[in-house]
Formats: sequence, structure tokens, C-alpha cells
Amino acid sequence: MDFTLSDTEQLVLDTAREFALNKVKPLARELDRTGRFPLELVREMGELGLMGVYVPETLGGAGCSALAYNMAVLEISKACASTGVILSAHTSLCVDPILKNGTDAQKEKYLRPLASGQKLGAYALTEPASGSDASHLDTMFADRGTHYELNGTKLFVTNGGFADVVIVYATSDKTQGHKGISALIVEADFPGFARGKSEHKLGIRASSTTEIILTNCEVPKENLLGALGKGFSVALETLDGGRIGIASQAIGIGRAALEAGVKHVKTREQFGAPLANLQAIQFMIADSATELDAAELLMLRAAKLKDLGQRRHTKESAMAKLFASEAAGRACDCALQMHGGYGFIEDYDVERHYRDVRICRLYEGTSEIQRVVIAANVLKESVVPL
Ligand SMILES: Cc1cc2nc3c(=O)[nH]c(=O)nc-3n(C[C@H](O)[C@H](O)[C@H](O)COP(=O)(O)OP(=O)(O)OC[C@H]3O[C@@H](n4cnc5c(N)ncnc54)[C@H](O)[C@@H]3O)c2cc1C
Repeated sequence: MDFTLSDTEQLVLDTAREFALNKVKPLARELDRTGRFPLELVREMGELGLMGVYVPETLGGAGCSALAYNMAVLEISKACASTGVILSAHTSLCVDPILKNGTDAQKEKYLRPLASGQKLGAYALTEPASGSDASHLDTMFADRGTHYELNGTKLFVTNGGFADVVIVYATSDKTQGHKGISALIVEADFPGFARGKSEHKLGIRASSTTEIILTNCEVPKENLLGALGKGFSVALETLDGGRIGIASQAIGIGRAALEAGVKHVKTREQFGAPLANLQAIQFMIADSATELDAAELLMLRAAKLKDLGQRRHTKESAMAKLFASEAAGRACDCALQMHGGYGFIEDYDVERHYRDVRICRLYEGTSEIQRVVIAANVLKESVVPL
């Protein structure tokens, strides 16, 4: 598989890297401490084309690739994990399903403002009684002739406090399991749409995680996304892309932590020499660097498969997310250890990276769920009779 970047991909990567270094990184500590949602960065990313990297130019996007988009998520997350997930949830979880399943009218109406960053997107699948078991939805939708009506509560919606457009998954008949689920494009100013509790979190504190409460929420019929009763497929296919974004986010956080660790051990002296001279420290650096490179290769493979579009890449996306989030967690732990007690103090960025990276093993399917998905695919592919 060839991962050589095209000129356009390189341009996206350079743009993201420069923006991350000059605009995002200087704000990261303040955003973490205050939990302020960086709406100004969203708008600036929009102006730079980063909010619609692989949306066709004809629909207002940068017309580039999923590969470039994921490299951008990595660079932004390296500077600030909160800003990274704002970009990732917007693109992977809202823009992508509209691009893949939307009618021409839906694409024209929604993708242009989303790709320019004038509007922000979100994805609302999780509910109080439905997490890993994502087809067990209680949010109901009913056909009211002129429109659909939504009732229910969605939980943990990333970008929820600021999103203008939310892809909501709801069921018309709970007895039908996943076959009863449909996807709807819901605007925040539709009657009956309300934002609920905003969560206070261990990490990615400047990202917004909220409830969304739907009370007789009126959705125009033309806002059904994909076919009636096919919403669960839309949700799962969306996660095939989203999990590559979380892998990229994890790698970005892990790389930031490793860089901070390396910088620290080169300057901090104990026993009359830099800590970097100690083999115990060098082995932590070697393991972290190797695992993050391996994670990046898995991420690039999944992103390339998405761009090629020849087949589903569910297994490869789950592998990238599982390995990257676990490896980045270990890298952040090693980087904190290399800092000694200073790593536990909030004046050092590694303390933030250690907290931020933890979410990558949880959202868009926990590590356990990734293993369930990978094993199911491997068993399906196997030609050996069971
Ligand atoms: C900050 C944040 C942002 C989020 N953003 C979004 C969003 O934008 N949109 C959205 O829809 N959701 C979002 N989520 C929800 C997230 O995807 C879920 O929290 C996650 O999928 C896990 O579901 P749960 O929390 O209900 O845990 P549970 O499903 O209750 O799982 C609890 C534990 O049991 C394990 N477990 C469950 N089932 C199995 C199984 N079959 N085999 C082995 N182990 C299992 C899990 O791995 C986990 O360790 C977000 C969550 C957080 C915390």
C-alpha cells in the first residue's frame, strides 16, 4: 500500500500542522483549565478548509482525502486533544454520513455550511440505557403525516452544546431491534430540540459533551438520512470512518506526550547526568516510539482503504482504533513516568495528555467492543469450518 502524499494531501497536512502549532497549541492549557469551547478555532479551521477536508469542492469542501483528513486530526490533537475531537466528531460523524447517504438536496443544504465551519455537526446515538449495545434505542420517531416526530434523550453528544446539525438515531418500533432504527438530520432550531446537561470530564475538557432532549421534536420528512429502517447501518458505517479519526487523535496525543518526555529527560539531570543516558528511560522511549509508529501505519491503512472505497474496512478501522488508543495510553503513561513528580503537576503538559488520552479507549466503541468487532470479522473471514 502506497502512503505517499499527493501535493494536495501534503498541503492539507502542512496547513493543519502550522495551524496546530501557531494557533491551537498556545491555547491548549487555557482551554483545558477553563473548559472553554474554542468556537473561534472551529471558524478558523473552516476558513482553512479543515472542516470539510474530503468534501468535494463542488459542495464547498477541500476535495481532498480521508488520509489527509486523518493526518490533520493527528496534528490538531497533538496540539490540543479537545480541538482534535471537535474536528473529528464534526467530520467523521456528521459530514461523512451526509456525504455517503444524503440526497442531492441534503448534501447541497447541509454540507456547504458544515464544510466551511459556519455550522458545526454532531452525532447522537448513545442513550442512558444504550451504550455498547447501540441498537437498543429508546428514542422513538413517529410518522405524523407532514413530518416525523422525535421523543427521547441522547447522552454524551460530542459538540452537543454548540452543534447546529445533529444526526439522530431513533426507532419506530423497539420490537424490531436494529431494523426499526432510522437516521435523521436534525437542526438545533427545530421545535422540540433542547440541549441538556453538560458533562464535566477527566480529559478533553474544552470539548462539549451534552445531553440532547427531544420532546415532540418536529423533523421534516425530507430529513430522513438513508432509507427508512436502515439507520443502524448508517450508524455502523459512520463508525468505520470515525474510529480512524479516534486512532489519529490518540496517536497525536501520544506523540505530544513522547515529545514532552524526550525533551524533559534530555535536560533534567540526576546522578550527575541527563536522565536520557539511563537505559531504563531509553527503553520507555523506544517502546513508545515503536508502538506509535505501528499505530500510525494501522491508521494509514484504514484511511487508505476508506479512500479506495472498494470494500468495507470495519476490521481495519477497529484494529487501528484499538491499537492506537491502547498504545497512546501506554506512551502517555511512560512520558509521565519520565517526568517523575513533575509529570503529576498541571504546569507540565504531560499531565493533560495523560488525562486526555484516556477517552480514546472509550468512545466510538470501547476497546472491548473493538475486540468483539475484530474477532467477529476474523471468524467470518476464516475458511476453517467451526
Ligand atoms: C466524552 C464522551 C464523548 C462521547 N461522544 C459521543 C457522541 O458524540 N455520540 C454518541 O452517540 N456517543 C458518544 N459517547 C458515548 C460512547 O460512545 C459510549 O460511552 C461508549 O460507547 C461506551 O458505552 P457506555 O458508556 O454506555 O458503556 P457500557 O456499554 O455500559 O460499557 C461498560 C463496560 O462494559 C464493557 N462491555 C459492554 N459490552 C460488552 C461486550 N459485549 N463485551 C465485552 N465488554 C463489554 C465495556 O467495554 C465497558 O468496559 C461519548 C462518551 C464520552 C464519555
